[in-house]
Amino acid sequence: MDIRIELTKNPKVKPTDESKLGFGGVFTDHMFLMNYTEGKGWHDPRIVPYGPIPMDPSCMVFHYAQEIFEGMKAYRTQDDTIQLFRPQENFKRLNNSCERMVIPKLDEDFLLEALKKLVEVEKDWVPHQKDTSLYIRPFIIASDAVLGVHPAKTYIYAVILSPSGPYYKGGLNPVKIYVETKYVRAVRGGMGMVKTGGNYAASLIAQEEASREGYSQVLWLDGVERKYVEEVGAMNVFFVIGDEIVTPALTGSILPGITRKSVVEMLKEWGYNVNERRLSVEELEAAAASGQLKEAFGTGTAAVISPIGELKCNGKVTVINNNEIGPISQKLYDHLTGIQWGRLPDTHGWIVKC
Ligand code: PMP
Repeated sequence: MDIRIELTKNPKVKPTDESKLGFGGVFTDHMFLMNYTEGKGWHDPRIVPYGPIPMDPSCMVFHYAQEIFEGMKAYRTQDDTIQLFRPQENFKRLNNSCERMVIPKLDEDFLLEALKKLVEVEKDWVPHQKDTSLYIRPFIIASDAVLGVHPAKTYIYAVILSPSGPYYKGGLNPVKIYVETKYVRAVRGGMGMVKTGGNYAASLIAQEEASREGYSQVLWLDGVERKYVEEVGAMNVFFVIGDEIVTPALTGSILPGITRKSVVEMLKEWGYNVNERRLSVEELEAAAASGQLKEAFGTGTAAVISPIGELKCNGKVTVINNNEIGPISQKLYDHLTGIQWGRLPDTHGWIVKC
């Protein structure tokens, strides 16, 4: 498929002070759009000026939330090239999300080609300062202008780009996490393992209540027994217990993070005893009590590695590693960010140049 390109006649002023870039508030000049029509398939791929997408008020996505999204970043290297980190994994996950949400799948090679073209058009929007990046948000929405609960016959695939600032302003910083025992995010057989808006809508109330208590994110437990650890907000989670590193197994209600996958692969290469298994809060508390809980950290595209300094569960506070960054968290952060920003060699074939 040929990608039509229509360049804007009114380019925006780019952020001048990159140190003030936050997250998700500034968008570039162009976006990628493509439509799906039953009988015709995905068609009309195009790069057009960024702007509103006209939609009928009856549009299915507004009512029944048939939608999915992805999140990844483009990084500017020291020699001024622009690169992506494992984008094929994001498109694979996008197609898995399509399957669960009954959205027609897309050609992953074409999606990568289209993304590279869009980033090429917007290359001057990739920020330059250390730890900044261009956040990439692909998404699909059901666009039929009709009410009634059934899979749509038309969809829009879009990619928008947002220059973003460093996640950590003053270096890696441990976060306080609230173990959620009242609300659940997802259950096995539900849609927790895919990236769809409903999962995030379901999480808002817990997030609100936790932040009122001074906690930055919640740690979700399994939706049935409320006993086993699952994931944190928009991050997967790892615990260093004695000489074992544990991350919850992907049992169907956890999003399979690309950072998680990369961390597991790196830790194995480095010879650590890393296991994907069920991990109960009870086991965590016992490990903390006996001094065996050495480190905890979240993994995700936004923060890469987010050390956890404190957990609160049923009123009981557990401080981890004296609220300091542990050596494994720091080593993973340095290596992953080194590869992403091109400061370290890409020995895994994870980097795709734009
Ligand atoms: N879990 C959830 C619920 C998320 O939204 C994210 C962010 N995509 C992650 C985990 C981490 O995934 P990744 O490493 O691919 O960013």
